[in-house]
Amino acid sequence: MKGGVDLGGTKIQAVIVGDDHEVLGAARHPTPLKGGPADIAAAMAEAMGAAAEQAGAPPSDLDGVGVGSPGAVDSRAGTVSQARNLAGWEGTYPLGARLAKSLGTRVLVDNDVRVAVRAEYLLGAGKGFDSILGAFWGTGVGGGIILNGEPWFGRGAAGEIGHMVIKDGGARCGCGRRGCVEAYAGRGAMEAKARRLVKRGHKTKLFELMKRANRPRLTSGVWAKALDGGDAMAEELMLRAVEALAAGIASAVNLLDV
Ligand SMILES: [Zn+2]
Repeated sequence: MKGGVDLGGTKIQAVIVGDDHEVLGAARHPTPLKGGPADIAAAMAEAMGAAAEQAGAPPSDLDGVGVGSPGAVDSRAGTVSQARNLAGWEGTYPLGARLAKSLGTRVLVDNDVRVAVRAEYLLGAGKGFDSILGAFWGTGVGGGIILNGEPWFGRGAAGEIGHMVIKDGGARCGCGRRGCVEAYAGRGAMEAKARRLVKRGHKTKLFELMKRANRPRLTSGVWAKALDGGDAMAEELMLRAVEALAAGIASAVNLLDV
């Protein structure tokens, strides 16, 4: 049995899987929004413990635990730095060592998008292909590349499909440049655009739905509800996002031919 933890800005998802990757236990806990890395690590250990209990084994019986984390991850050292959408995580924290100590088993930490691309390659949408391009659409837009069975890191930052420029001089991106895919398709950028439109007097149900769902942000669920209800602004911004993603992905495919 192995454990897996996905550390996100709003939730911590833990699973226990068997030899055929079948899910034997799962737990989802909210990510602490106050405190710092130590509090988040404690919540991760707790979620892992709950999943392990469901699977009927203490965490120390696991062959190991894999962690997908946002931020800059040094997987050899097991450290996570500058995970800016997590509370108080500007510096470097030894997440792997801390979790290994509280769970009593070995822990491997890597970047969330990197492990997700690898999982799709081995078990999911990329199964059966030698080379793949992975694109992950969330608060930002991340990606990863596997070429002939090997992950391609470039000099360390390869696969940043969210920062492919699809419109010269276009919308301002969080990275400081203009016209990146993420500036149109990142959930953060989409929310900022919706807020600007509302300020200018445009109408939408997005923020009302957000309040009703008791969310501080426009989550995927809020967008889905607005789209289901035929909200014109949600439809327009979603179409704009899909067009930006499509242009970025098509350009990357032209280059890589994966
Ligand atoms: Zn950018």
